[in-house]
Amino acid sequence: MARFTLPRDLYHGKGSLEELKNLKGKKAIVVVGGGSMKRFGFLDRAVDYLKEAGMEVQLFENVEPDPSVETVMKGAQAMRDFEPDWIVAMGGGSPIDAAKAMWVFYEYPDTTFEEIIQPFSFPTLRQKAKFCAIPSTSGTATEVTAFSVITDYHKGIKYPLADFNITPDVAIVDPELAETMPAKLTANTGMDAMTHAIEAYVSTVACDYTDPLALHAIKMIHNDLKKSYDGDKDARASMHNAQCLAGMAFSNALLGIVHSMAHKTGAAFSGGHIVHGAANAMYLPKVIKYNSKDERAAKRYAEIAKFIDLPGSTTEELVDALIEELKKMNKSLNISSCIKEYEGGIIDEKEFNEKLPEVAKNAIGDACTGSNPRIPTQEEMEKLLLACYYDKEIDF
Ligand code: FE
Repeated sequence: MARFTLPRDLYHGKGSLEELKNLKGKKAIVVVGGGSMKRFGFLDRAVDYLKEAGMEVQLFENVEPDPSVETVMKGAQAMRDFEPDWIVAMGGGSPIDAAKAMWVFYEYPDTTFEEIIQPFSFPTLRQKAKFCAIPSTSGTATEVTAFSVITDYHKGIKYPLADFNITPDVAIVDPELAETMPAKLTANTGMDAMTHAIEAYVSTVACDYTDPLALHAIKMIHNDLKKSYDGDKDARASMHNAQCLAGMAFSNALLGIVHSMAHKTGAAFSGGHIVHGAANAMYLPKVIKYNSKDERAAKRYAEIAKFIDLPGSTTEELVDALIEELKKMNKSLNISSCIKEYEGGIIDEKEFNEKLPEVAKNAIGDACTGSNPRIPTQEEMEKLLLACYYDKEIDF
């Protein structure tokens, strides 16, 4: 038995933000981030539409990137005071992820993070409110997924929350909100989406319902990401849809060790963060080579390569063509080829090697490892991470 869950309604296309007018309810709380939605006028428009729908509206602003437990608790308290029957989260991944967690503590004030950290163990939501998500970046697809990442800065832990209860009720995928993304963010979030689709397609729990979404997303991202990066508006709109399709696939097919490694290297080093999308982009070619030792995975990578018309007649040739194509995409998007080169070398070589055993252990223990085609040993994971640091070939 498997489950496939998506939002009840998904509005897409230019101007779809206006659908907020048709939500039925009495009170809406709008959760947003640091200011771009306000600056570009989308927040005001959203509030006006909700008022047109006859709702009383309150704002919860300034959710930080990588939202904290404190922000979640503050937001949940604001919700308990205001008692909304709609939670409307808009912006990048962070405000939407934060709002998903606030929702849980709004409806269940006595629950704790420790209680909901176990995947798929949430209490039944929608007792008090429904959830509408409106993304402004084209990558995380949190508007359609069952996931949210919250950071406990005191303990230095990221809580990856996973439960179909937090899959939104309504997603509004309006490309106008993504038009304002800077080029670098477009590149990183776009390769995050590419990684979602590829990992979902080779995941051990991929199925007939997730495969077509993943494949089509890969084709669209392959066609449109570079154009979107170069400022083409149509390609930017297409990327907004493509990342959402990739999200529908991975919310149900889960991910793999590219994400395990990105999660656990992201904040591990003192020189600075390795941004999620860039980390995925750098690690993906290495992990494909490693995973392709698994026969089923190799066949699936070859299917992807064929689907996007890459050259090759044998499985091996097609897998290698896919790896080369992804490296080429990274280069064209000005994403570094390895951690050593990342942001001019902010991740210190000595520190990387010192922390390698611990980071490798954490990556193996990450929630995304379980659905990867191969489960790496400690030694293999260390070798994989070293290959990602020095841009070495994978031969194991
Ligand atoms: Fe991701």
